[in-house]
Amino acid sequence: MAKKKDTNYRCDFCGRSSDEVRLMLPGLNGCICDECAEHANEVAKEYLRRLEHLEVEEIDMASLPKPNEIHAFLDQYVIGQERAKKYLSVAVYNHYKRLAQKRGDDGIDIEKSNIIIVGPTGTGKTLLAKTIAKMLKVPFAIVDATVLTEAGYVGEDIESLLTRLLAACDYNVEQAQRGIVFIDEIDKIARKGDNPSITRDVSGEGVQQGLLKLLEGSVVNVPPQGGRKHPEQKMIAVDTKNILFICGGAFEGIERKIAQRLNTHVVGYGAGNRVSKLDREKLLHFVAPQDLRSYGLIPEIVGRLPILTNLEPLDRDALRRILTEPKNAIVKQYHKLLEMDGVELTIDDDVLDFVVDKAIEFKLGARGLRSIFETIMIDVMYQVPASGEKTYQLTRDYAARQLEKSNFEMLSQMQ
Ligand code: ADP
Repeated sequence: MAKKKDTNYRCDFCGRSSDEVRLMLPGLNGCICDECAEHANEVAKEYLRRLEHLEVEEIDMASLPKPNEIHAFLDQYVIGQERAKKYLSVAVYNHYKRLAQKRGDDGIDIEKSNIIIVGPTGTGKTLLAKTIAKMLKVPFAIVDATVLTEAGYVGEDIESLLTRLLAACDYNVEQAQRGIVFIDEIDKIARKGDNPSITRDVSGEGVQQGLLKLLEGSVVNVPPQGGRKHPEQKMIAVDTKNILFICGGAFEGIERKIAQRLNTHVVGYGAGNRVSKLDREKLLHFVAPQDLRSYGLIPEIVGRLPILTNLEPLDRDALRRILTEPKNAIVKQYHKLLEMDGVELTIDDDVLDFVVDKAIEFKLGARGLRSIFETIMIDVMYQVPASGEKTYQLTRDYAARQLEKSNFEMLSQMQ
């Protein structure tokens, strides 16, 4: 190895002498300095990475889960929401088909159908997305639209949506280009003007224009670390043509837009009365693209989300089932936790009814089930492991006392 002082060596790549560099590596017919060696290493790594990425696995249709199988898988984790499950299963299956299609002479090109799910908060939008992700054979990322801003504002650039997707497949661009992105809280980038309930405007329309570019399918430069773009940061070019976008949002207050439209569209058929009698929650069933527009999404975005479906508000029965039925239901988790201490837990039936009643009373929905249950169980979880007991029976009276003791009511109303 040549030392710094051996001045008769020169790097055959940059021409600098040993004096000018930290290290000079002599070879059979020449030399390379440490900086050029490092650069060569990077170029070689990038080249090999690209070679690898060209070999994207073919989608084998025969081995893919069919829509009914995707639906059955979702059933294990998500209670109800049949309509959304059906739409999602078909969309995911079609996404695979599009990736598997051979572009032949028939000239038919299966286009992607991005999805938008409208539903009250806490009814399972994210849960559906996460569950789908468990069984997918393509990269998947969940991102929150609220962090996005137009270039120049504080927040993340729109392109950073794809950073997560890239990270999900170890920066394999070819893989990412066939992935699925779930954009949560899309309603938060609705135009402020049209919707007084949105107080946090993240420069709505500009963000929507940026998002449109991604939904339409174009080649975008993605900052590998996410966040804001820096001039010196190396960008990764990603083509979004084949990326499936699933958007979700609560669209609070959209019932009013639906009611207005239903009233005006069917004037003369006595529909006015019918609408006023319709349960506000049921109105969500009738959500149509025009309602998303009146809510403040630009028409181009609405046009790029051709599949529109809704989630149902969770009724008492659904909440009760959520406690016990999903594969990782809260009740199952508590049984397991105590089982690990050698304690068999029995929960009286009316405890479950009580928990559901409280979740409804405090307007906490499905999200509240867990916090209520945890509040009830905290002392049991603390005492039972050291007590030497082999069984524990949870009663309604005990549950009610625990909740009262914790001032849960007061706390939940402060939220
Ligand atoms: P959002 O619609 O706001 O995205 P989430 O999917 O995050 O709601 O739901 C919050 C929590 O409530 C979930 O983690 C899950 O425990 C529970 N939950 C909500 N909806 C359902 C459902 N349909 N089936 C089972 N659990 C649900």
